[in-house]
Amino acid sequence: MIQSDVDLQPFNTMTIAARARYFCAATTLDELREALEFARTKQLPILPLGGGSNIVLTGDFPGLAVHVGMHGLEFDPLDDGIRIHAAAGENWHQLVMRSVELGYGGLENLALIPGNIGAAPIQNIGAYGVELKDTFEQLTAMEIASGDLVTFSAEDCQFGYRDSIFKRGAKDRYLICDVVLKLPRIWQPHVSYPALQQHFADHGQPLDELTPAVVANAVIDIRNSKLPNPVEIPNAGSFFKNPVVDEPLYTALKTSHPGLVAFEFGTQWKLAAGWLIDQAGWRGYVKNGVGVHDRQALVLVNPGHRCGSEVVNLAREIASDIQKKFGVTLEPEPRFYP
Ligand SMILES: Cc1cc2nc3c(=O)[nH]c(=O)nc-3n(C[C@H](O)[C@H](O)[C@H](O)COP(=O)(O)OP(=O)(O)OC[C@H]3O[C@@H](n4cnc5c(N)ncnc54)[C@H](O)[C@@H]3O)c2cc1C
Repeated sequence: MIQSDVDLQPFNTMTIAARARYFCAATTLDELREALEFARTKQLPILPLGGGSNIVLTGDFPGLAVHVGMHGLEFDPLDDGIRIHAAAGENWHQLVMRSVELGYGGLENLALIPGNIGAAPIQNIGAYGVELKDTFEQLTAMEIASGDLVTFSAEDCQFGYRDSIFKRGAKDRYLICDVVLKLPRIWQPHVSYPALQQHFADHGQPLDELTPAVVANAVIDIRNSKLPNPVEIPNAGSFFKNPVVDEPLYTALKTSHPGLVAFEFGTQWKLAAGWLIDQAGWRGYVKNGVGVHDRQALVLVNPGHRCGSEVVNLAREIASDIQKKFGVTLEPEPRFYP
């Protein structure tokens, strides 16, 4: 079951060539538990893997890479909606489309986000004004230290913007095994994002005739038109989080750059990181086979299948330029390993 010295290039959408000292693809809870026992005896660090669409491998991994591949997807109709039980190895987009086909809304804005269910709570995936937390009920995770199963409620997960307890207090302590979501029977569309409004206007789509399927298809169209498909151009999606800044910095930036794209975020402002990077002149930049996508400056691409350090160097150069030009700190969204 456990293999040694395994190439991780097929397991990350950046197609970075790096090797894992040990690798295991677990498709049952027992296999997962055995893999963790193996790692415990050898005192190896764990790299949990789903679809590999939100990681950057900066070098070889000195421990055990575990592909969490349990399958199972169940839809339980309720009086007031539907409950979805999804195992960690199921594909996120397919879950969204199954729920839409069944006529339930709530996940349609999250269509076409790559990756598996197990990783979705890690950064509380979000798009077009909707986040996983909006429909999340609970998850089951295996504690890496003991192999015990633990349940986390939405409150336990401490979800935030591209954030959860699994990036902070519970970082590297659990493998997520399954997730439970609940979608309401009465659907409330979330279509205030300008890109969605523009799409409906361009296609003559009346806003009072929307269905979850119509919104999902709009999201798919928009994403296909501006985001590179990782199968064609290796990438890890948005490379930086949209920085959240206080009112004084926002006002100063808006005065010096009237075109600044920003959204209210509680008492603060969330700036469009892609706009900052674009304004700084990085869009379309390529060096040594690594670059910035020519349609979406927030996405770093690796068409040359270069090593992780090239990607990290470019990310550092961009972040330091944005700091210099705008006084704004950019934080990477994907997780770097090791
Ligand atoms: C083209 C593109 C577009 C994207 N668009 C969006 C977007 O709109 N919104 C958004 O939020 N994200 C987006 N992403 C990022 C990515 O799709 C999500 O973060 C997704 O949830 C990652 O899933 P994955 O299975 O590929 O995770 P992986 O990359 O395999 O893992 C991501 C992190 O989770 C950990 N992990 C994985 N599985 C488990 C598990 N079972 N238990 C514990 N830890 C685990 C990994 O160790 C790693 O730290 C995009 C990525 C790409 C390439």
